[in-house]
Amino acid sequence: MARIAILLRDRCHPKECQWECQAYCPPVRMGQECIVEGTDGRPVISETLCIGCGICVHKCPFDAIKILNTPEADETEIVHRYGYNGFRLYRLPLPPTKGITGILGPNGTGKSTALRVLAGVEVPNLGKYDTPSTWEAVLERYRGTSLHAHFQKIANGTLRAVFKPQYVDRFSEEAGTATEFLTRSGVDADAALRSVGLERRASRPVAELSGGELQLLAIARTVATDADLYLIDEPSSYLDIVHRLEIARLLRRLGETKSVVVVEHDLALLDYLADQAHLVYGEEAAFGVISHPIAMRSAINTYLTGYLKDENVRFRTEPVRFVAHPPKLATQRNALVAFPPLEKRFPNFHLTVGAGEIAKGETIGIVGPNATGKTTFVRMLAGAEPATVGTPPAGVSVSYKPQYLKATSSASLRERLDALRGDPTFDVGVFERELVPGLHLDDLLDVGLPDLSGGELQRAAVALALARPATLYLLDEPSAYLDADERIAMAKLIRRQVERQAVGALVVDHDVYFLDLACDALMVFRAGDDGVSGSGAGPFPMRGGMNQLLKDVQVTFRRDAETLRPRINREGSVLDREQRERGEFYYEAAA
Ligand code: ADP
Ligand code: ADP
Ligand code: MG
Ligand code: MG
Repeated sequence: MARIAILLRDRCHPKECQWECQAYCPPVRMGQECIVEGTDGRPVISETLCIGCGICVHKCPFDAIKILNTPEADETEIVHRYGYNGFRLYRLPLPPTKGITGILGPNGTGKSTALRVLAGVEVPNLGKYDTPSTWEAVLERYRGTSLHAHFQKIANGTLRAVFKPQYVDRFSEEAGTATEFLTRSGVDADAALRSVGLERRASRPVAELSGGELQLLAIARTVATDADLYLIDEPSSYLDIVHRLEIARLLRRLGETKSVVVVEHDLALLDYLADQAHLVYGEEAAFGVISHPIAMRSAINTYLTGYLKDENVRFRTEPVRFVAHPPKLATQRNALVAFPPLEKRFPNFHLTVGAGEIAKGETIGIVGPNATGKTTFVRMLAGAEPATVGTPPAGVSVSYKPQYLKATSSASLRERLDALRGDPTFDVGVFERELVPGLHLDDLLDVGLPDLSGGELQRAAVALALARPATLYLLDEPSAYLDADERIAMAKLIRRQVERQAVGALVVDHDVYFLDLACDALMVFRAGDDGVSGSGAGPFPMRGGMNQLLKDVQVTFRRDAETLRPRINREGSVLDREQRERGEFYYEAAA
């Protein structure tokens, strides 16, 4: 069994600690060079001398070390390794010449690395991180396998691969307008903009586009490029629920003639998009193993069950279950908060929200396209934005997690907690007992907030918000940057906390599985016809709310018989047509 020692370089601050990893290491104390100083001033942990005691892992004041065993991976299957104490990727997906292949797995398990390798953007080093990698070595390694032909074509330039990178916010550094950006890449700008509904942004500087618009622009450019292989990394980030469904249709049309690989955490979207999927299992930032392809009809269920039969790997202890939440009867509902009609006028935007009521123990989802006023509504309830008309309920204690997060201090979560001990507006006990295990924060407690990744910061922020005793929790896009596992865990946790304390929550989100797991009811936001107004209504029972939203996009969902999870119907399928005729866009499972 191989031992893996990982140094998380972003978290390691060798000038700010006492080198506890080295000082306490038993082999070092016996005179062995198990942990030495590397050329970059950081520790290098010998994987052959390490005895796996885990003392350095616990002693590191920044949680920067991981020591683990890799029972499932075979050393000869290493595709790429980032340095001696760095991440390693095992196996690769091989996309067929046509159709859509999904890749589904936790954050930090090598999905983006696999796409870059397939695209030829990164020449894989096959584990030999200390010498420059070459295509000759790659071709030699894959001789006699089906990946050989792929890499041969990549190496000699006969297979054209295009890549939609994960981090589209980097495009905001591009000069010029959206049209110029596309023209520079050699695509027909007008057609590309039209394919994603961005016509009205044609002459807008790229630097001024929103995150969602940058995502659409990046997808439009990739899809409009003539290529053989399309590698699309996390297309749904920053997109609202309506745009997610629209780009899903765009990508499906592409997959009818081309080979497409998509990494995606929105399970409803991936399920609809892909014909087959590879699951990735492993340990964040340490290693990832790419499974054999699984037909889409069973891929998500395998993922939710957590057991890969043909590889005999269990990657989840408890299967994820969806449950039918029948609408609560009026007699069971005890009102918690009622809000009157509210209005907000900005110079260029006008929001109207109808009156509504939240019952004790209810989590309410807020859905709708971007720029329809969801954040503004939540901010009015949070007291962060005064209403132009109407008064948000007074005397209701709220706890608010904003949409956009920024680490404001270099303190770690543990330091924040210590400062909050004894503060009556913060429950350290709930944080430690419920939220740390529920959101898997154990390994993050000692990391400075600016060193956290997007998903880690999101989990920390949601935990800090949920630990404040309140009548109403306001969570704006809590699933952003989370992987599918983290979304499921968070959705269940929010629901449980709210039910148990008989309080209420409003949760803005775009992920249908997340909403389905967390919520009892929905508020629906819509754009006005004038393009400068938005309106919100509800809460409605889950099914009625989803129906209103889906009617606008003409997408229907059914329920999976085995897991009760919602599934998008294929456009024009028998079920799709039947449900549309009946006006049943969101099919509810029998309770
Ligand atoms: P995923 O897309 O599944 O989130 P990535 O392929 O981006 O994962 O990265 C997997 C791991 O590899 C990361 O957790 C990071 O620790 C490491 N890694 C990624 N890129 C680099 C790099 N250029 N240099 C060193 N380590 C890297
Ligand atoms: P959503 O959360 O649904 O994406 P927002 O509530 O963030 O929508 O924004 C709705 C509209 O209100 C946007 O067009 C935005 O430009 C505008 N807006 C939001 N905040 C302000 C503000 N402080 N000043 C002026 N306009 C604003
Ligand atoms: Mg990635
Ligand atoms: Mg918003």
